[in-house]
Amino acid sequence: MSNLDVRPAATVCGGREDVSAQPVHELLVGKLVQLGESTRVRRLLPNLGRRMVGAWCFVDHYGPDDIGDATGMDVPPHPHMGLQTVSWLHDGEILHRDSLGSVQTLRPRQLGLMTAGRAIAHAEVSPREHPRILHGAQLWVALPDAQRQTAPMFEHHPTLPVVNAPGLHATVILGEVDGAASPGTTFSPLMGADLALDAGADVRLPLEPGFEYAVLAMSGETEVDGVPVSAGSMLYLGCGRRELPLRASNAPSGLMLLGGEPFEEQIIMWWNFVGRTGDEIAEAREAWNAGVGAGRFGEVHGYDGDRLLAPTLPATPLKPRGRIR
Ligand code: MN
Repeated sequence: MSNLDVRPAATVCGGREDVSAQPVHELLVGKLVQLGESTRVRRLLPNLGRRMVGAWCFVDHYGPDDIGDATGMDVPPHPHMGLQTVSWLHDGEILHRDSLGSVQTLRPRQLGLMTAGRAIAHAEVSPREHPRILHGAQLWVALPDAQRQTAPMFEHHPTLPVVNAPGLHATVILGEVDGAASPGTTFSPLMGADLALDAGADVRLPLEPGFEYAVLAMSGETEVDGVPVSAGSMLYLGCGRRELPLRASNAPSGLMLLGGEPFEEQIIMWWNFVGRTGDEIAEAREAWNAGVGAGRFGEVHGYDGDRLLAPTLPATPLKPRGRIR
């Protein structure tokens, strides 16, 4: 998935000043964004009030959509740098192709983890023959400065550890939940988990007090620490919690829990790039748009159509605010 905005705004994020050291309740509503012709997403991060949760810097939730008679997802080849992408499905299938030559069908509760590092390009489409319903989330993790030039790689983890408690089935996407660790590669202390709650479930999940957390509601309605959170919205929880009380309504519900050590480096996000300086972003944009044979970012084979060109940079220079580490 990609940021397909024609005039994407630059987002400066990271740093301690946004982080709540204490437990809080901050309800974030998604902004509707059209992604290509066929897919509409709710963008939860970056949000007006909140730009990151740990190293998590981008969260789109889409569906459930009936794409039985439609093309479904169709995101042409586009580049990334300085981040990892996490593809997570509750329903449907996505066909991922990247410039490393990876061709992988992703299915519900399988982890598609792409580390862009210094440069990668990929395309994501619904396979020609696809299930009727498409429902999922696309997330990005910012890479720390020391690792952001790392070699690009793609990981597919079809099976992940599951932690079960009465009424709760937690799939560990990244990092750890209650001692169970995901095989996915991470570059900073963080976690991500899929939480499936049975109707009427009333559970407490152990948390890491040094992490900040947010919960994305994927389906149903859940009381998260007493706050009702319905599908498509996100509740930011701050730091300083040892556990999280969750209560399902009289129907099952699905959530994603995202957490991590507050990300103290200042970053600049523009279009599909994460960088530290405006010049660096401008160079990456130039390299991608110039790219016949695609040089730095490589080429995505097998996509039927043109790649996505980067839009014009904003007139005001892209500058990170505050301290840069
Ligand atoms: Mn992408």
